[in-house]
Amino acid sequence: MQYPETKLPNVGTTIFTEMSQLAAEHHAINLSQGFPDFDGPLALLDRVTYYLEAGFNQYAPMAGVTSLRNAIGMKVERLYDCQVNPDTQVTVTSGATEALFAAIGAVVRAGDEVIVFDPAYDSYEPAVELNGGRVIHLALKSPDFSIDWSQVKAAINEKTRMIIINSPHNPTGSVLAATDLDQLEALVAGSDILLLSDEVYEHICFDGAHQSLLRRPSLAERAFVISSFGKTYHTTGWKVGYCVAPAALTVELRKLHQYLTFCTVHPIQLALADFINDYPEHYLELPAFYQHKRDLFCELMAPSRFSFKPAQGTYFQLMDYSAIAPDMDDVTFARWLTTEVGVAAIPVSVFYDCPPEQRLVRFCFAKDDQTLKQAADKLCKI
Ligand code: PMP
Ligand code: GLN
Repeated sequence: MQYPETKLPNVGTTIFTEMSQLAAEHHAINLSQGFPDFDGPLALLDRVTYYLEAGFNQYAPMAGVTSLRNAIGMKVERLYDCQVNPDTQVTVTSGATEALFAAIGAVVRAGDEVIVFDPAYDSYEPAVELNGGRVIHLALKSPDFSIDWSQVKAAINEKTRMIIINSPHNPTGSVLAATDLDQLEALVAGSDILLLSDEVYEHICFDGAHQSLLRRPSLAERAFVISSFGKTYHTTGWKVGYCVAPAALTVELRKLHQYLTFCTVHPIQLALADFINDYPEHYLELPAFYQHKRDLFCELMAPSRFSFKPAQGTYFQLMDYSAIAPDMDDVTFARWLTTEVGVAAIPVSVFYDCPPEQRLVRFCFAKDDQTLKQAADKLCKI
């Protein structure tokens, strides 16, 4: 039997799986894959138990339960002053990952170009490629990982179907400013270019308000805006996310969503709706919660030989190790850190098409203070 050639020749097992496995094998403190080592709020867990026991264990409505779509609509209006119709513009998905795949699959056609900024989250490119599109990689500017808008302008042509942005940004922790949205508005005005805005860390933005595309009607009218409850409620394993998009784009997104998964886990959607309505302070206080962890980690790492600038958003901190191992590439360094030092990290070069000469690894600080102290203790010794 001759098996078909792979459709994704450049894809292997993700770096997150690889590093978490290595961390487990070597009993290293896992600051690689992004997930908290603490649990979601008790009141939320209680609501899930309630709905499980109350028998909400069959299919949920395809687009998501009404109470959760309404809660998302109200949150978006409160935070971003954006009115959306929950029936026609909000879709609950099985994680942001599914929403990204469905949004890209809904609109990208053979020959289309999609602009992506490197270092880029790993799931965008395979989705574009599977739909016959081509990713145009533009590198974020060092050292602050900002977008070079003149480069974007030069890259846009009649084949440009979509621009994918991600703020707060994984893996660098940079955030877009209001002036970036001004530039984006000017660039896409009068065109049919679509936007995909990965805002899964919308509530983990430290120095100033999160610049959601939903704040700007001229951007929102062409955007799929995607978020994840996994990040906001410390429940990455539940895989519940959502997409807000104009009605016409939502119709197309749902055509894919209904055949990818049809619907998303029912009792958890109901529980999330209650919790969002009853405890809005959870997402309002999340920036302060994670800022404490960022500041603690940075303070603990100050005596180390790593150099860094505190992240502006996300629960990731980049660190430059050139004073420790100037000649070691980051994949080797991350593996060495895991197996020999006992702290797992993510190498940054894997998120680039053409990695620049830099010596950076990413640490996840969504961890108990004690875990951060133990990790920093080991990292300060090298
Ligand atoms: N986008 C980015 C930038 C992420 O960091 C993640 C987190 N894994 C996702 C999308 C996917 O989110 P989810 O776990 O809800 O699928
Ligand atoms: N988004 C998480 C990270 O960046 C990982 C998600 C995954 O493992 N697919 O670490």
